[in-house]
Parts: sequence; structure tokens; C-alpha cells
Amino acid sequence: MSLKAEIISIGSELVSGQSLDTNSRWLSQELGALGIATAFHTTIGDDLDDNVAVFRAAADRADLVLTTGGLGPTQDDLTRDALARAAGVGLREDPDSLAAIAALFARRHRTMAERNRVQALFPEGAEPLPNAIGTAPGIWMRVGRGMFACMPGVPSEMRLMFTDQVVHRLRGLGWIERIFVHRKISLFGRGESDVEADALDLTARGHVPEIGITVHDATISFRIRGEGSTVDEAWRQTDEAVALIRLRFGPLVLGEGTTDVADALVAELARAGATLATAESCTGGLVAHLITAIPNVSPYYPGGVVSYSNQAKTELLDVPAELIQTHGAVSPEVAVAMAQGARRRFNADVAVSATGIAGPGGGTPDKPVGLVYLGLATRDTAESRRLEMGPEQPRDVIQSRSSKQALNWVRLTLQGWPDKAAALESS
Ligand code: AMP
Ligand code: MG
Repeated sequence: MSLKAEIISIGSELVSGQSLDTNSRWLSQELGALGIATAFHTTIGDDLDDNVAVFRAAADRADLVLTTGGLGPTQDDLTRDALARAAGVGLREDPDSLAAIAALFARRHRTMAERNRVQALFPEGAEPLPNAIGTAPGIWMRVGRGMFACMPGVPSEMRLMFTDQVVHRLRGLGWIERIFVHRKISLFGRGESDVEADALDLTARGHVPEIGITVHDATISFRIRGEGSTVDEAWRQTDEAVALIRLRFGPLVLGEGTTDVADALVAELARAGATLATAESCTGGLVAHLITAIPNVSPYYPGGVVSYSNQAKTELLDVPAELIQTHGAVSPEVAVAMAQGARRRFNADVAVSATGIAGPGGGTPDKPVGLVYLGLATRDTAESRRLEMGPEQPRDVIQSRSSKQALNWVRLTLQGWPDKAAALESS
């Protein structure tokens, strides 16, 4: 049996473009994971006639209809009225739902407004879907061909109601036969085509489980789809592929899930118990920003310097003025001196620097736009690295790529450092 689902998002703020409909996307993904295909996304404003018309159309053409929004207590919340009209039935008050709404107000020490009573009204024949974290209960009801699940618009309430109330009802209808799980392993530090060439056996059509590659901002992700009749079984189907990718790509692997380079770096800093300082010219603080975007990084990141001018490099990072004169501010020598200066000034275990030409102007034949030198200093080493991103790249791409390369270089360096716990034991 091939089921058709329709997702309806309700709210004038959505059709006007004021806010983005993220509920539909989430619900489509969840349904997909349960093996149910979404055939329609419909978005409508807070207008009763439009809602009735859309509900009727959905009741004709879809087996499963998920709606979000319009369940609040105000004038423009019309979902319950529209559903009753589309079904040709009246509304009745549900005492249990009314009691639950009253109890929620009592728990929050607020008085319940008279208009909240409408949230306990349901079309005749409907089953209320309890809302554990908000006032608006949802509605479960058949209209025509369509089994309707009407949920609140607030994303957190909608998600909880879907997972806690809707999914087991779909199972009860015998609509969930296969379970799909999706896992993502991210890599950084090699080109997409290189990685792809080393993974042809995994990404081949017909491979079980199905594995795809995507690239975002130089981070390469393997997406693995497991399938089974239970979540466990679907998960187990992916285990071997995940282990193989980790083994094959070793240090390039950032981790699983939403991990990016900064996340993985901060995890390495924590593991090694090391501190990092930064010295930035062409990246203008982006490296520092990416690091500080990760919560709880303060024990590992004392700080950094944005030294944009030559004078700042000299005064804030002790880069000798003669060094800049001899080699130029964009040079391996200055990159190294910046990193060493930052490491000493912040008394950090490791420091990374970036100096380059982000463009669009300022390039020369031997120092073109897109040329960036990174420096890395530890307590006993100092090195530079040359990156060439190409003069055709826009400024923001040059800045973002070189920042990520800087983070990744530190990450790879730290991989060779012992665990803090092990180091403490042996000392
Ligand atoms: P409502 O249940 O219609 O009162 O919606 C409550 C709030 O939930 C709205 O003000 C929006 O901020 C949010 N919301 C409603 N529908 C959506 C949607 N489709 N996607 C994301 N947020 C939504
Ligand atoms: Mg609304």
C-alpha cells in the first residue's frame, strides 16, 4: 500500500513571508523516516473559508493529513472550526481537555482567561491529542479519505505531540511497516573528489545500507540510511558502514551528527587538556568567533588578537617590524611570528595564526588574492602552511575556508597529543 500524506501549515505569518515554515520540513523528514511519503505541502493564512477549502481538498486526496498552527485561543485560530465545517459536524466541549488546560494555568500560577475554553472544543467524533507542554490540545479525526492530526504551531509542542501522540496512532493503523534511520559522519581536510574516489565501493548504487556524500563549506558528509522493521534493526544495519568510514578516513573524521570543525577541535582541546590562542589578520576574528560559538570552551581558549595592521602585529604580537619589511605581512615568516607571539602573550599550549589576501583588491602576481599563510606554534615547534584558494573566490569564502583550515590544523596537531587523564597518571 502506498500512502499519501499531506502537510498543511496554517498561519498568516507564514504565507506573508514573515516567518519560515520549518514545521513542514520537519514533519516530512519524520514521515520519511517512518516510510510514509509526503505528496503535498500546503500553506494557508488564518482565513476560515480558505482553511475549510484546503481541509476538504486534503480529505479527498490524502490518507494522512498533518496540520500545524491555528489551535490557539485567539480570533485568528480557526483550525477546530474549519475542521468541524469540513467534516460537516458541530463542536462539543471535552471536559478532560478543559481540566488539563485549567491545570496547566494553575501550575503556572496564572488565571485562565475565558477565551482559553475554546481550546477544549472539538469537532464531534474527534479524539483529543494531549499537549504535555502547552495549552492547545491537538485533534485526531477522520474526514473523508484523510486521517487528520491537527497539532499546535509552536515547533517544540508540535514535535512532542507528533512523537508522543501521533506516531503510535499511525502504527495502530498499520501504516508503519519499515523504519529508516539516518546517520551522518562528517570529514574535513580533503577534497570531495578525493574522498569520493576512496569511497566508490560504499557509495555505489545498490549498496546496503544506502550511502550518499554531500559537501557543505568544505565539510564532507557521508549520509547513511539504515532500514529495518524496528529502530534497532535499522540502526544495526548502519553500524558496519560507520565503522568502516571511521577506519578508512581516520583523522579526517570530525565525528557523527551535526559536528563541524570547531566542535571537533574543542573536543580535542578538552581531551588533551590544552589551551589555544589565536592571531588573525585576514580572517578578522572569524577563527575566534568559530571557537567561541562552542559552549563551555572558556577553559581551553584564553583569547586571540585581531592584528590587522602591521603596527598591531608588532605591538600586540611582538612580530619584529624588520620581519614584516623583509618578507611582507603575508608571508610564512610573519604567520609563524604571529602564532608565536600569540602563544607567548596568552601563555597557551598552542596558537594558530592567519595572514593573507582576502580580496577582491590587493593581489599581486606572486601574492594573488586567495593566498593565505597559516602559522602554528606549540611550546617547542613553529610551522607555516600555504593555502591558495584561488583569486576568483569571494572574500567571505576565502575567510571562511582559511579559518576552518586553521581550526583543522590545530585539531590534527592535537590528535598526536596524549590524553590529559593519561598525562596526569604518568606524571
Ligand atoms: P499558532 O499555533 O498558529 O498560534 O502558532 C504559534 C507560533 O508557532 C507562531 O507564532 C509561530 O511562531 C510558530 N509557528 C506556527 N506555524 C509554524 C510553522 N509552520 N513553522 C514554524 N513555526 C511555526
Ligand atoms: Mg497562528
